[in-house]
Amino acid sequence: MVSNFAKPVENLSVTNAMKEWLNVTEKKVAKIVLELKKLFPEARTELNFSTIFQLVIAVVLSAQSTDRQVNKVTEKLFLLVKEPKDLLDLGEEELSRQIRSLGLYRSKAKNLIKLAKILETEYQGQVPDSFSDLIKLPGIGPKTAEVILGVGFNKPSFPVDTHVFRVARRLGLSKAKTPTGVSLDLKKIFPHRYWLDLHHRFIFFGRKICKAKKPNCAICPFMEFCHKEELNV
Ligand code: SF4
Repeated sequence: MVSNFAKPVENLSVTNAMKEWLNVTEKKVAKIVLELKKLFPEARTELNFSTIFQLVIAVVLSAQSTDRQVNKVTEKLFLLVKEPKDLLDLGEEELSRQIRSLGLYRSKAKNLIKLAKILETEYQGQVPDSFSDLIKLPGIGPKTAEVILGVGFNKPSFPVDTHVFRVARRLGLSKAKTPTGVSLDLKKIFPHRYWLDLHHRFIFFGRKICKAKKPNCAICPFMEFCHKEELNV
């Protein structure tokens, strides 16, 4: 994956409306970008894949499962499945059997088979690279679509999962109540070249330091603008 951190941080700018609404200063934006880069220089997706269709499978499987559990399952599955037609050859029953250690495996298998059929019949076996096409596919919501666009196609995207949602709100970067709303706020605050790296770094920060329960605030570089207490989250 190409890093978006090649350009100097002084070019950061926050729109005036967002600045006023959230009281987010350019100094704060720069601090978040730089400190997270320092903490997690190598942050990237932990899901294993070698084709974009495999990425789609891995992201769909990751709902309510850990990346580690998904990688364990896909290690064998991806020896057989690289493209949609391979999954159709495998069939729903065998797919269900291979992924049965994951939560919601029956509905995931059903959705993936439907999705593979649509890719074969409507997209010549290719994964589409537009948000509007992706979210029409079974099992793919806005967050999954953003992950595929960013990680798979290297397009500007800021997917918001449970960690990004919590961290963004605790850091006072959004007051939105939905992941889509938070994603829109983050896209207004940070220049797009930072989006995908920040997405990964927010996840690492949320998993390792700003945890949902018992965050490790003693080592947090952002205590000065933490809103955890007033949000009560
Ligand atoms: S001070 Fe604690 S709760 Fe606040 S952002 Fe840092 S780790 Fe999270």
